[in-house]
Amino acid sequence: MATALERYDPQIYELIRQEKARQSACVRLIPSENYVSRAVMEANGSCLTNKYSEGYPGKRYYEGQQVTDLVETIARERAKKIFKADHANVQPYSGSVANIAAYMALINPGDTIMGLSLPHGGHLTHGWKVSVTSKVFNSVRYTVDPNTGRLDYNQIEDLAKKYKPRIIISGATAYPREIDFEAFGQIAKKVGAYHVSDIAHIAGLVVAGMHKNPVPYTDIVSTTTHKTLRGPRGGMLLCKAEHADKVDKSVFPGMQGGPHMNTIAAIAVALAEADTPEFIAYARQIVKNAKALAEKLLEYGFNLSSGGTDNHLILIDLRNKNVPGKKLAKALDRAKIETNYNTTPMAPDHPANPSGLRLGTPSVTTRGMKEDQMHLIAGFINKVVENIDNEAVIEDVSKEVLLLSSQFPVPEHFIIPNRDNQDVPQPMDTLTPWLF
Ligand SMILES: *Cc1c(COP(=O)(O)O)cnc(C)c1O
Repeated sequence: MATALERYDPQIYELIRQEKARQSACVRLIPSENYVSRAVMEANGSCLTNKYSEGYPGKRYYEGQQVTDLVETIARERAKKIFKADHANVQPYSGSVANIAAYMALINPGDTIMGLSLPHGGHLTHGWKVSVTSKVFNSVRYTVDPNTGRLDYNQIEDLAKKYKPRIIISGATAYPREIDFEAFGQIAKKVGAYHVSDIAHIAGLVVAGMHKNPVPYTDIVSTTTHKTLRGPRGGMLLCKAEHADKVDKSVFPGMQGGPHMNTIAAIAVALAEADTPEFIAYARQIVKNAKALAEKLLEYGFNLSSGGTDNHLILIDLRNKNVPGKKLAKALDRAKIETNYNTTPMAPDHPANPSGLRLGTPSVTTRGMKEDQMHLIAGFINKVVENIDNEAVIEDVSKEVLLLSSQFPVPEHFIIPNRDNQDVPQPMDTLTPWLF
């Protein structure tokens, strides 16, 4: 039977169908992407999208919040539990907005922020030139050591002493090594700065204990919910009790209007999924897979930023292979391997035509791939690099990729086993009649 979407809007229906097929056929190595579970998808596509809930549980500006108050409270409690935080705000529409709300909670326009430079792995919203964060705030940037590909905490401390930022931002969008959040916290203390940590990429690894949790060493932790955490597209702020009120006011009414309650419900589901032994095993496998992929790429003579990885992400410096990043990313896309071209700390100067490629293992790990498949994928990448101008070979690789993908179906019906000890809300008298 045709779905409502198929009947009413066959164009969009067909495009979604094609995207689903594409996500199923491709080996997706973009480190910020994932596949959510069926349960998350259902919550995200629910009637909660119909509801306006400006404010917070118990303090709303619209009536009819019997259900939404409970949903948001559950999401907040789950976030607090798994990140061991005093307070959680689950309303930010996405990571970028969460970051700006975090800064505005602590400092004023014109104050100085200090974050990792974008070509060295920082995010736009860490004060990069084209971002509003460098226009509203005075932005100074630290870099990674181009020789080691690693953060140099002495250099960061020296810069902090020189520029006296009011906020130091730790966290990255393209950094393959563990970040020493404690060291950042100490530097911030020394110069009287706040410490905001952005764990958008690694939130799932943090929950699973595969990366140190920054919460004890920071004023505010900002994250997305859709990367390694494997939830819907959204953002979240975690903080100590002393900042709770400021953070909430900064998100609403400071930055946003009504929260997206369907997203918040889906975040709640993803947080429950993340609080399971299965998720910890998943996060472990993400790192094992990244290491396996990195080792094989090294064997094929690829140069990796920092020489390898501690997390879910790999940054290849392609200069010794004489293939530009963009050209390779496009050839790999034709071979059904999705990646993105990126600058590397060794050659940060050409963001328009970068010499790097960024890879990550969260999506392929969700599909159940393990080390053996990573070795195959490294071989595919090498074959495309060595035959970059040979379309017939690239076509052959795409067939091998399809064969691999077909053995690891997208978890359409990805269901985490039933959870015990749940307090399922009792039906509310006023609402019950509508349910039948
Ligand atoms: C992805 C990312 C963001 C932004 O998230 P959006 O949801 O795309 O706005 C912020 N910070 C870091 C470090 C990221 O990797």
